Amino acid sequence: MQKKYLLAPGPTAVPPEILLAMAQPMVHHRSKDFEPIVASVKEDLKWLFQTRQDVMILASSGTGGMESAIANTLSPGDRVIAINGGKFGERWVKMCQAYGLLVDEVKVEWGTAVDPAAIEQRLKRDPAKAVFVQASESSTGVAHDVKRLGEIVQNHPGTLLVVDAVSAMGVFDLKTDEWGLDVVVTGSQKALMLPPGLAFVSLSEKAWAAAEKATSPKFYFNLKRERDNIRKNTTAYTPAISLIIGLQKAFELLKPEGLDGIFARHRRLAHATREAMKADGLELFAKGSPSDALTAVKTPEGVDAEAVYKALRDQYGITTAGGQDHLKGKIFRISHMGYADTFDVVTAVAAVEMVLKGMGHAVTLGKGVGVAQEILLNKS
Ligand SMILES: *Cc1c(COP(=O)(O)O)cnc(C)c1O
Repeated sequence: MQKKYLLAPGPTAVPPEILLAMAQPMVHHRSKDFEPIVASVKEDLKWLFQTRQDVMILASSGTGGMESAIANTLSPGDRVIAINGGKFGERWVKMCQAYGLLVDEVKVEWGTAVDPAAIEQRLKRDPAKAVFVQASESSTGVAHDVKRLGEIVQNHPGTLLVVDAVSAMGVFDLKTDEWGLDVVVTGSQKALMLPPGLAFVSLSEKAWAAAEKATSPKFYFNLKRERDNIRKNTTAYTPAISLIIGLQKAFELLKPEGLDGIFARHRRLAHATREAMKADGLELFAKGSPSDALTAVKTPEGVDAEAVYKALRDQYGITTAGGQDHLKGKIFRISHMGYADTFDVVTAVAAVEMVLKGMGHAVTLGKGVGVAQEILLNKS
């Protein structure tokens, strides 16, 4: 037997309370067994998103939520700006192209955050119907400054800011209404501690106005239909009933901690992980603005990051993530989002040290662990 630990940036570990809640016998969605559950989670989603707007619940992975954002607010031929600083930024570009949008792609060096001033200049020079960005780019472990982008885009009445917050919502502060985030998308399998299968999308009044004019084809992902339904505590089609029951349980676990508590926990875990990796002589991949959702770690010259990732998994049962594209073999990524706490970090750091030592690399066992423990110590 080998005990398994899931420390990947999605899907993330699911608490036993949620697993048990989801194991209940099936109920019918058009019934009093289920509608009160929708009524409760829809309010909690507004709390999580920090919005007064409706948050639509879709049965899809996060990418489906991203697609719904495009299909519902834009039309073929629209000019848009897509910020591409990693695999998920690249996904925005490809999806926009699939919908016949004219994409002005802003390539950002992987590991760095976009310079909002560059977006401001582009918008002044050439108007765009939307700016697409990741709040947290999970392939590089970088957070883009969506607050600043919101300030910029709010000065352009014809432009929407569309935010992929799949690995950001419930990790760090995202004030949807206050910051002018027009479309915000998240998914169930990251900070919400659920299995994959749900996407959540909010639209600002500005985005709903754009939706009135958008002519892109859509059927399943028709957000107006979903809004009409969620207002009646239901969904247009059969919802992922078990996952929504799990979501209610997730909110039961998260709400007592409060948004500030949730953000502080992620900040603390991220800080401890980063400092521990540095103490072990490893370099962080994110230059500047690291995301609190995950830590991308560079391996030293001559140490294959893919081998580290595989040894963590095969020798110690710990699933992290490797690097994608040109980062394959160069980085591995440790998640600390969602159902994560002190000993997930301690476990991850200890295992990285053991793997590196096992590979013959010069590392002092316990050095990074000690640094993490100092940071995570409850000083009461
Ligand atoms: C996980 C993730 C997604 C969604 O991917 P799916 O596999 O479709 O759920 C989108 N964006 C980011 C930044 C992510 O981390």
